[in-house]
Amino acid sequence: MIIKNKFYHTKTIERKANELLTAYYGFEPAKIKLPVAIDKILEIHLNLNVLWENFKDDKILAALVPQEKMVALNEILTSDTGKGRENFTKAHEIGHWILHVDQTNSDANPLPGFSKPYEKICRSSLQDWDEKNADKFASYLLMPEELMRASMKNEKISNWEDIRKMAEKFGVSSTAMRIRLENLNFVYISEEGSFFKSKAEFVGQGTLM
Ligand SMILES: [Zn+2]
Repeated sequence: MIIKNKFYHTKTIERKANELLTAYYGFEPAKIKLPVAIDKILEIHLNLNVLWENFKDDKILAALVPQEKMVALNEILTSDTGKGRENFTKAHEIGHWILHVDQTNSDANPLPGFSKPYEKICRSSLQDWDEKNADKFASYLLMPEELMRASMKNEKISNWEDIRKMAEKFGVSSTAMRIRLENLNFVYISEEGSFFKSKAEFVGQGTLM
């Protein structure tokens, strides 16, 4: 069952991702060894079944079937270089499971506002609020703020190679890492592709010229 396009504060999504990390690791996210153990969280801690499928449609990345506790992943995710996209999609499906599935009432009649049966099919082009929130959850789960801050203590992000190295450390794609770094204000990349230490530095640069 699901509340379609349920509203969540960003801070609530982050808290739920951190709670999952604490529940799995049993200690504060700051002590986690990277990358986050997404396969174990998915299959052992949450006891969800993973099924690899050839969906014949490259736009469909994954699907969640809560009644069967199943996550179906498109085989195209494995053809990419690196595990970044695969890890992010798994974390995204965990996001739906945590944020959008009522796990306490799986056999009961749906409550008002819920629909049943529920199947979530995730397309790369689909961008409703549930999809955006599942993406946010995945970002917080794989790149927790404390660990990002710890990693950035001795790092400087001044080019794409720096981003690629950080992405590899956290097991995500360079695109996902860039978004997280910009959100935490560790870097700002202008439309022209220039690297700045922060958005403020970029804006300041503009006023000087
Ligand atoms: Zn989705």
